[in-house]
Amino acid sequence: MTTTTEFEALPALEGAEPRLGTLVMKFGGTSVGDPDKIKDVARRIVAARAAGNRVVAVLSAMGDSTDSLVRLAYDVSPRPKPRELDMLISVGERISCALAAMAIHDLGAEAISLTGSQAGIVTDTVHGRAKIVDVRARRIHEALDQDRIVLVAGFQGVSTDFDITTLGRGGSDTTAVALAAALGAEACEIYTDVEGVYTADPRLVPEARKLHAVSYEEMLEMAASGARVLQVRSVEVARNHHVKLHVRSTFSAEDGTWIREEDERMLEKALISGVTHTREEMLYRVEGTDPARLFAILAEAGVNVDTIVRTGSEILFSAPAEDHESARDALDGLDVDWTARDDLGKVSVVGAGMKSHPGVAARAFETLAAAGIELEVVITSPIKIACHVRGEDVERAVLELHRAFQLDAPEAERQHA
Ligand code: ASP
Ligand code: MG
Repeated sequence: MTTTTEFEALPALEGAEPRLGTLVMKFGGTSVGDPDKIKDVARRIVAARAAGNRVVAVLSAMGDSTDSLVRLAYDVSPRPKPRELDMLISVGERISCALAAMAIHDLGAEAISLTGSQAGIVTDTVHGRAKIVDVRARRIHEALDQDRIVLVAGFQGVSTDFDITTLGRGGSDTTAVALAAALGAEACEIYTDVEGVYTADPRLVPEARKLHAVSYEEMLEMAASGARVLQVRSVEVARNHHVKLHVRSTFSAEDGTWIREEDERMLEKALISGVTHTREEMLYRVEGTDPARLFAILAEAGVNVDTIVRTGSEILFSAPAEDHESARDALDGLDVDWTARDDLGKVSVVGAGMKSHPGVAARAFETLAAAGIELEVVITSPIKIACHVRGEDVERAVLELHRAFQLDAPEAERQHA
């Protein structure tokens, strides 16, 4: 049995000198959801500047305005041209940045808003899910040197063909991390509507605890298996460029969760960092092709393959429910036997301590067995055990595993600093 988790390639970064005191602050859509919230964010940015930082703020589009723009496109055309779709949906972030710059001026500070392109975010030419290939931060440095606050429209760049591209949903996180790496920022703060990363989704598990520290690897596994605070790709860029991330609430001054290099305390104190879940997973079973051909075609179709299991001539893989149409079309075009199940969800236990402590898998399986929860597919990595279970068992599985690994105890939070 072989398993893989697919992570994306990295952007190359123009070697900018690290500057002490540079802070990148990213604000998500709910944080800039209306004019008053934009004014609050402006105050927070100005306060960070007043504390002595060179501040670059990356903003998302207001509320769910990106969804509205996508809907608008489909109201006009059943198959919007990807180039034009990017031209359209990149607008939301520009609106937020221009408005925030106005609000900052009213507070008596200097600010300049920049599109991704003006900020030097260069991407490949894949519309809708472009990858950053270079950050040419000259203009940002100049503005910072002139004592300005720089606002950068997230989620977008300019391609090597000079077209506007977008980085995939949630892509402002990746803009922020790539800028933090390129500018040598001390940290990248991700401001959002939750207090940080929890040992499980607090809406489902009221005893869930806020984690103070999570390793990059853990966060990658958690983000890929259902924790929705960060775009997976942003965590990968952070890991590869050693950018410390601080996920925290826009609406409080409390510390949130630090995402950084693994340390001893993560390995010893609490073996498990969290239990994540997804309610809807499509599980595909394919016979009659080789993995190289199959996954090349799926990648081309834009299917976000999560886990892959190969046993004999059969290949199993899972993918998000929203990719089903693309997967179906790709598989139908391949002349293979395939089936798909849509009645499953996935529960994952993630923790760096698993590497050095045997018995985690045994405890997870015993716990689920005792609760009468059947496992359909099990996939592991060195720091993750992921179980596909029936959709209706997902909630119970999360609660049972959270309890079994004592994630409601104070030690589960770990320490930062
Ligand atoms: N506004 C974009 C989205 O909704 C990008 C982002 O928020 O990060 O996906
Ligand atoms: Mg987001």
